[in-house]
Amino acid sequence: MALVKRRRYQLESSSEPLEVIVRGLDVLNEPLLNKGTAFTEEERDALGLRGLVPPKVTDIDEQITRVMENYRRKTDPLEKFIFLTSLHDRNETLYYKVLTENLMEMTPIVYTPVVGAACQQFGHIYRKNRGMYISLHDKGRIREMFDNWNQDEIDIIVISDGSRILGLGDLGANGMGIPIGKLALYVAGGGIYPCKTLPILLDMGTNNQELLDDPLYLGIHEKRGDDEEYYEIVDEFVKAAKDRWPKVLIQWEDFTNDHAFPILSKYREDVLCFNDDIQGTGAVALSGLLGGMRMKNEKLADQRIIFYGAGSAAVGIADMIVAGIVEESGMSEVDARKLFWLIDSQGLVVKNGSRPLQEHKVPYARDEEQIKGLHDVIKYVKPTILVGVSGQGQTFTEPIVKEMLNYSDQPIIFALSNPTTKSECTAEQAYRWTAGKAIFASGSPFDPVRMGGKIFVPGQGNNMFIFPGVGLGASLCQASKVTDAMFYMAAKTLAEMVTEEELKLRTVYPDLRKIRSISATIAAAVCKMAFDEGLAGIDEPENILEFVEESMFKPEYPKYVAAEL
Ligand code: NAD
Repeated sequence: MALVKRRRYQLESSSEPLEVIVRGLDVLNEPLLNKGTAFTEEERDALGLRGLVPPKVTDIDEQITRVMENYRRKTDPLEKFIFLTSLHDRNETLYYKVLTENLMEMTPIVYTPVVGAACQQFGHIYRKNRGMYISLHDKGRIREMFDNWNQDEIDIIVISDGSRILGLGDLGANGMGIPIGKLALYVAGGGIYPCKTLPILLDMGTNNQELLDDPLYLGIHEKRGDDEEYYEIVDEFVKAAKDRWPKVLIQWEDFTNDHAFPILSKYREDVLCFNDDIQGTGAVALSGLLGGMRMKNEKLADQRIIFYGAGSAAVGIADMIVAGIVEESGMSEVDARKLFWLIDSQGLVVKNGSRPLQEHKVPYARDEEQIKGLHDVIKYVKPTILVGVSGQGQTFTEPIVKEMLNYSDQPIIFALSNPTTKSECTAEQAYRWTAGKAIFASGSPFDPVRMGGKIFVPGQGNNMFIFPGVGLGASLCQASKVTDAMFYMAAKTLAEMVTEEELKLRTVYPDLRKIRSISATIAAAVCKMAFDEGLAGIDEPENILEFVEESMFKPEYPKYVAAEL
């Protein structure tokens, strides 16, 4: 009978050598432990590695040079994705060191937009297991399955049902690339320990016929079923996750609206969880608007706001701005909502329209008569802020953008739809059509614009500014739930990190290259809010920022010794 030994790896930073309970090839084949050629002479002897790696002992910098040489040789973005994935599967510390040091270059590869292409091809480029899959057929067995995961401490689960992957629709089990990518950003940008992250794909089938017809598709070959069974499995997952990892934070990711909103409202009060598409997007956009308010020296409560698009991003952003207005001015929620006009594919979202409204739109439905076109709604509302979250490219036309100048000398125009081709207008158009007066931000990055001897730097409302800090903060202080007040604090903190120089360049977000210090500062603000709200599960440390910084994972090799067994 073979002796089966459960293995657990806890890669905490420590000045003390870490005791390793496996030896030889098992060490090299475990990405959380592997150092490749960087194992020292002593470690090679202690762990039975002599002869298994080339003789020269290298340091991590030499390994990075080798990785970057290979990475940059690849010209196809999907090949770069596959290359980085295989590094991730081989040596996690090196992967995160490379990712952290080259975040601006690699974020578009490990996350949007290239992760989208990788998800579409998932069954064709699949190499190695990572994370967990729960399918429709696992009903009743989820808790038992979680025992198969060999880590007893998980801080963050990112889970998707693959139903609405980026702007690509239903990708079923192929959606696994998203939780994996998001958690990679959590580790690189937020300093969560890699061994304490768990990506999960909830495979409820897919309605994507192309995938069902693809013999290499790796999910269950079934159409999505009814809602009753769906919510039962989600509930079983939540209970099993809380039982197996009581402190875990669950991040809901890329669910269709009809499930995203009900799931969030069902669990947000009792379970440590949030939805990044709704709340993270809300906070990052709110932060951009607070930056705009700093630039204009005005208050949110004095604005009139049109949203072009009324989906999860729109309602997430609107809810967060409402929370911001309530916090900032003491106005009631009901009154704050009156500052918003939402437009969907049918026109202005109104109470007495010709069709039943989806539930998430109801709080923003207006009493007015239906008005169809965006330009007509603008003329009627006279907005100071126009936010595009429609997924419809080039819909903020020259007459529309110019119209905004009639109602504000510095209109705020956020074209947040992704990818670049779906952006409602470009940065250059917004600045040119308003003679540089617009305060512009976008979902996808745009280059700085030179005009009339001035440089305008458009801000990018990247969710990465917010979710790693919120997740890190809520998890470190063991909050019992994630509240709107925490997201508001995250948004406010981010807006305050924009320097005066950046504001002069008309950018409303700080430099993404500072993401680790941004995440630490946001995490500290989130912790502080949890302590103030009485929701934290630990005692308040004397210096919260120091506590956060000391708790963050740094991609450095620890020293190993063999454990006495
Ligand atoms: P969604 O599908 O939930 O919502 C899209 C909304 O647009 C719906 O209300 C739909 O009715 C409306 N719409 C579609 N066609 C329209 C038209 N012709 N005129 C007016 N409205 C129309 O999608 P979502 O999750 O809300 O995302 C919307 C966009 O926002 C996407 O492009 C996404 O990439 C972007 N987004 C950006 C960020 C960010 O910048 N940080 C974050 C999340 C989403």
